Amino acid sequence: MTASDGPAWVRESLHPHYNQSFTVDELFYDSETAHQRLKVFRNGTFGRILTLDDVVQTTEGDNFIYHEMLTHVPILAHGAARRVCIVGGGDGGMAREVLRHAAVTHVTMVEIDAGVVDFSKQYLPTLSQGAFDDPRLDLVIADGADFMRSTDGGFDVIIVDSTDPVGPGEVLFTDTFYGHAKRALAPGGILVTQNGVPFMQGDELTNTMRAFRALFADATCYLATVPTYAGGPMAFGWGTDSAARDVPLDVLQARFAEAGLTPDYYTPEVHKASFALPGYVLKLMP
Ligand code: SAM
Repeated sequence: MTASDGPAWVRESLHPHYNQSFTVDELFYDSETAHQRLKVFRNGTFGRILTLDDVVQTTEGDNFIYHEMLTHVPILAHGAARRVCIVGGGDGGMAREVLRHAAVTHVTMVEIDAGVVDFSKQYLPTLSQGAFDDPRLDLVIADGADFMRSTDGGFDVIIVDSTDPVGPGEVLFTDTFYGHAKRALAPGGILVTQNGVPFMQGDELTNTMRAFRALFADATCYLATVPTYAGGPMAFGWGTDSAARDVPLDVLQARFAEAGLTPDYYTPEVHKASFALPGYVLKLMP
């Protein structure tokens, strides 16, 4: 390829019949870890981008939407979360947002690939923003499915921030894993999951909701649109035996004010509205 051909491109081919591409304006890293192909590069629109096996994991530009909605929604709905578990989340963005809650005393992060953590610290420091140095964080390098099978649990919130159900992430979308996660929740605990983009990956949501319906009194999903997770709103699985989803707006507003957060996407009103599902998503629910 000659310089006159213009920039290099990374093409994401996660979906059949649909791809998205990003210019590689500066390549920082491109190599195989023990589990997956890891790339970190800068793109003129989204800033630094982390891909695993050429699938966008997170970007500097739009990660705030995803990480704020998978943390503040369950933590503020719960109202007294002290112990949080993150499965996956190697880039550190999820830990960053959980640790903003001063009332959270302990975060266990179970990440299968130390390479993602190491390279995210070095090439994506704006994602973790020091989260890996927080004394409340306990980083466990392990398969999340193995961890969940053997943990003593006691978690108020479990957040599954995994890759899509291909490769190492596949085990995190199984009934067995969800059953172990349910057992690892403390009374009143909430399980939330990265559950794909329903317009493109409807089966993922249907399968997770079928498992959640068998496990939890309240099993549904909530939505937020993350530009680089192409295809419209992304679904976040929600499973709990509590009534946390019905927390009144004024209570949520008071908890939000007390937490002293200054997010760029989350608001208590957006929190409540995110559970309003459009027809095509409702039709995917079992
Ligand atoms: N926001 C991204 C998304 O929605 O696809 C996820 C980002 S995060 C980088 C995904 C993490 O899940 C990766 O670091 C990957 O190594 C980790 N992961 C995949 N399978 C796993 C497993 N079985 N146990 C623990 N971590 C896993």
